[in-house]
Amino acid sequence: MRIRQLILINLAVWLFCAFVVGASWLINRNAIQGAALSVFQAQGRAAFTLIRATRHWNAAQGSVYVPVSSLTPPNPYLELENRDITDNLGRRLTQVNPAYMTRQISELLADADVNMRITSRNPLNPVNRAGRWESDSLGLMEQTGATEHVDRVGDQYRYMARLDIVHSCLPCHEQQGYKVGDLRGGISFTRSAAHVDPLVNDMLARVDRIHLGIWVLISMIAGLTTSLVFRFRQQLVGSESVQQALRALVETDALTGVLSRRELMNRLHREVDRCNRFDTSLVVLMVDIDHFKQVNDHQGHAEGDRILKRVAEQLQSSLRRVDSLGRYGGEEFTILLPRTSHDEALILARRLLQEVQSMGDVTISVGMACSRDLPDPVTGDVLLKMSDQALYAAKRNGRNRVFCHRELS
Ligand code: GH3
Ligand code: MG
Ligand code: MG
Repeated sequence: MRIRQLILINLAVWLFCAFVVGASWLINRNAIQGAALSVFQAQGRAAFTLIRATRHWNAAQGSVYVPVSSLTPPNPYLELENRDITDNLGRRLTQVNPAYMTRQISELLADADVNMRITSRNPLNPVNRAGRWESDSLGLMEQTGATEHVDRVGDQYRYMARLDIVHSCLPCHEQQGYKVGDLRGGISFTRSAAHVDPLVNDMLARVDRIHLGIWVLISMIAGLTTSLVFRFRQQLVGSESVQQALRALVETDALTGVLSRRELMNRLHREVDRCNRFDTSLVVLMVDIDHFKQVNDHQGHAEGDRILKRVAEQLQSSLRRVDSLGRYGGEEFTILLPRTSHDEALILARRLLQEVQSMGDVTISVGMACSRDLPDPVTGDVLLKMSDQALYAAKRNGRNRVFCHRELS
């Protein structure tokens, strides 16, 4: 893993933290704004409940008359037979129905921080005509059957509750085609957001600060953890590669690059176990360079080393992957040929002989022992010993030849 990958992982972790903290930030902000709206909704509902009670009271009286004044002139939109009467004291009285009364109360609130309007999309009195937001709210409530609608519009909170036609509305509104249960209009309340905004903004700022802090902290911890994991991994990989290097050092011969004697012996015992267990044939070849002392004497030790390496390379190139070639010691090599018959091994050994000879520097002698020729269960030591005896015989019989243990007896 490189530094670029560390940066990428850190970036991914940072993005993930940003996503999680960002989601929590948005949820919290929305919850606070939603809570402010809910508070206003509760206020609107309470106000509406009060107004509705006064309207019910008015309707329940049948007719409510008040003296005609500049504040309460006869309502021209109230087309009733006995709208205006004179009482026995000679005062002129005019009838105030629930709608007229509601509008009068709303006018009293003109200077308050809560405004109220009785409104309709189809009013008798054009003053009560629904504004755009009110009209949309009434439309929405008509569609969904909802009894109220609340919203924040610019820097105002707005609440609308529906008014449905009841029996007492019919004398005035039946002529407009309304039936009992129809949405007649609504009462809307408007309040400036200024009364809650400082509190809401303070809470929002707190949420911003907390989330920024959490994000910085998590990012730092995540970054630190990633870096530590990265370092730990680097060290682990480092120690693994050191172990690999050590293993390679122990398992291979420094000069020739073939297996060390130690590793060769390990493999011999493994192959012997396998050959005994699965009853397969295992052949051991003992290879020794002929008159190598003379090579050193005449050409020097360095040239002797070079030839030793070349012979090892030549031998290795002629073997299969399953075969093992190791340096037994000095100018002596050992070859393990698993699952190989005596005849196959003999062909191979003769080929090795020819190939080394054709290199032109030296010749080799080969002693061969096959597990099939030995009593069961065969051991590594016996195979080595028998191939060594065969090698000795090959030397005695003139060198540059293969001798099989089988020929000794
Ligand atoms: P033969 O095996 O044919 O009987 O004769 P030889 O001369 O090869 O046999 P001997 O065992 O007497 O000599 C082996 C020589 O191999 C002795 C030693 O100088 C040489 N030798 C062993 N290891 C190395 C090595 O690593 N490098 C070099 N250059 N020579 C080595
Ligand atoms: Mg020799
Ligand atoms: Mg020797």
